[in-house]
Amino acid sequence: MDSVNPVLQAAEHVPFWMGELPDGVCPPPVDVVPATVKWLIVGAGLAGCSVAYDLVQRGESPDAILLIDAVGPGWGATGRNAGFVLSNCGLDLPHWLKNWGEDGARELFRLAGKNRDLVRSFADEQGLWSQDGGSYYVCGDESERAAIASSAALVKEWTSEPWSWSDSCHEKFPYDCGYIHHQSDFGINSAQYLLALLGESGAPWTKGLVTKFRAEADRVVVTTSAGDAVAEKVILATNAYAPWVASKFECEYQIRGARNQVILAEFPGVEDNGLWGDGIYYAREGFEYWRQLPDGRLLLGGARNQDIDGESTWNFGNNDRVLRYLETDLLPKLSGGADANVTRRWSGILGFSDDDLPIVGRLPDTNGRVAFIVGFSGHGLGTHRIASEALTGLLLDDKFPGWLYVDRLKRTSKNWKG
Ligand SMILES: Cc1cc2nc3c(=O)[nH]c(=O)nc-3n(C[C@H](O)[C@H](O)[C@H](O)COP(=O)(O)OP(=O)(O)OC[C@H]3O[C@@H](n4cnc5c(N)ncnc54)[C@H](O)[C@@H]3O)c2cc1C
Repeated sequence: MDSVNPVLQAAEHVPFWMGELPDGVCPPPVDVVPATVKWLIVGAGLAGCSVAYDLVQRGESPDAILLIDAVGPGWGATGRNAGFVLSNCGLDLPHWLKNWGEDGARELFRLAGKNRDLVRSFADEQGLWSQDGGSYYVCGDESERAAIASSAALVKEWTSEPWSWSDSCHEKFPYDCGYIHHQSDFGINSAQYLLALLGESGAPWTKGLVTKFRAEADRVVVTTSAGDAVAEKVILATNAYAPWVASKFECEYQIRGARNQVILAEFPGVEDNGLWGDGIYYAREGFEYWRQLPDGRLLLGGARNQDIDGESTWNFGNNDRVLRYLETDLLPKLSGGADANVTRRWSGILGFSDDDLPIVGRLPDTNGRVAFIVGFSGHGLGTHRIASEALTGLLLDDKFPGWLYVDRLKRTSKNWKG
């Protein structure tokens, strides 16, 4: 692991969704860090802002909270993602069933649906833009078709949600091996949503890189590039970068970074989103995804599986092999014969946990004063609300966080010490 926290590289690359917003919509940072704050939240992405929002909803004063971010709200994965709110986290049911059995998979499916509904109602209350044509999961080959068809049959028994499995594919899909249409899923502008959460929380943010902390009996002293901060409680919402704040995330909880590439293509002469409409699409176990924005631009990305080793990194930058695949293989298949110009390329860093679900909990040996909500594994929009609810329940009510509690890793982690 590099000794310099790679999160600082984010500053050199404006996140796509942040760049789409009008100037001045992000609240400016506060310069004056209070001498002592009750809640210090490290990281102002989906997770940190969601926790700030929930704390205030639960009666905490916004003035008792301070978010601190090395770069700024939305400058991590949150501002660089595809903006898909999926109620099934990529429908990895075969994987969930293997890891958690039917009861666990069923509960996680219910929670992910709850997360989607929470995002939906917040977005509606705030009048946020969304693409509402539902999600399409497109199987890439026959073995995936078989796995997803059996998962689909199972889920049909669990839920009355509006979704359907089709054994054959729509002619415009790049693969002809069956698909699921989940009508309640939707796409959002991730930065617009994030800033609405932050704004509704009313909590201030400041800029600073957190390098370490020391938990004492009655407080936590946090070392930051902007000077020391003192807090009653600290919440680490640093996703992929958690190992740079506490070694436990590297050695035991095994949070690891994985890069994801995205491109944006324009179709001269095509003025609306007629190719792909209002749907959001993902294929081949979620490794490939695309959506067409209302102005006609096609956002497509992923393909990490073209070079898993090369993309197993925290470093920003482009991967030629993956980009070549996206631009010369997948894009023509999605362009419906229209000429396409690639106008943007970017990457973002996913933070994987050992079993691909976020983890929440309190760090041992910190007198219960340092908690965490990290490891969103490429599905933060699909899980941040339920993870935040689980963490704030733990911190405010001492309520067991359920499936997202870190202790579940005992079942999968080779290095677990607790
Ligand atoms: C290309 C791409 C596509 C994606 N598509 C989707 C999608 O369609 N749907 C979906 O559900 N998910 C998607 N994801 C995943 C989703 O974006 C993330 O799961 C989610 O944004 C995680 O939010 P977070 O707040 O935990 O992390 P981040 O957004 O990464 O925020 C962490 C914050 O912590 C700050 N930070 C880190 N370390 C420190 C430190 N030491 N000191 C101070 N600040 C620090 C960072 O600056 C950053 O702002 C995608 C991700 C990528 C990269």
